Amino acid sequence: MMFGYLYPKICAAAIHEIDALKLKSKGIKGLIVDLDNTLIPSKSDYLAREVREWVEKIKKEGIGLCIVSNNWQKRGRKIAKILDIPIVMIAFKPRKRGFKKAMKIIGTKRHETAVIGDQIFTDILGANRLMLLPILVEPLNLNEPIQTRFLRVLEYRFVNHFHEKDIEWM
Ligand SMILES: [Mg+2]
Repeated sequence: MMFGYLYPKICAAAIHEIDALKLKSKGIKGLIVDLDNTLIPSKSDYLAREVREWVEKIKKEGIGLCIVSNNWQKRGRKIAKILDIPIVMIAFKPRKRGFKKAMKIIGTKRHETAVIGDQIFTDILGANRLMLLPILVEPLNLNEPIQTRFLRVLEYRFVNHFHEKDIEWM
């Protein structure tokens, strides 16, 4: 299908709803995680307790983590430091380089790596280009710049077709 690269394989209402054991059963050993609106709300550095606990659970299961963000601001490093996970910033997702760098850091191969993010045209498209497992989460807030809001409108058109696709919900 022409737009196949834009579809996630798994959807979740929020990152902390994603089940570590289910990921392991799929052979996933590493997670590439988006920053803005996935781990923290955009324009904020509020880190929810549920998210911190989820990160701990993932680590406890022996799954590697790396944040990959298109953002350049300092708060990315701050959040990475608090969570004690590596970060690749200014990644230019959906370009492949940032994802590849993260896999090198985590030490996983493509089929062992999943990407978690809230945006189809960066996170999901990038994951599919590299054959990584794409997981879409609902954005933490929608107080976003106009370019992002424009992309959201396009994204929701795809979301409307998700029920026709073979997508797993967590
Ligand atoms: Mg995001």
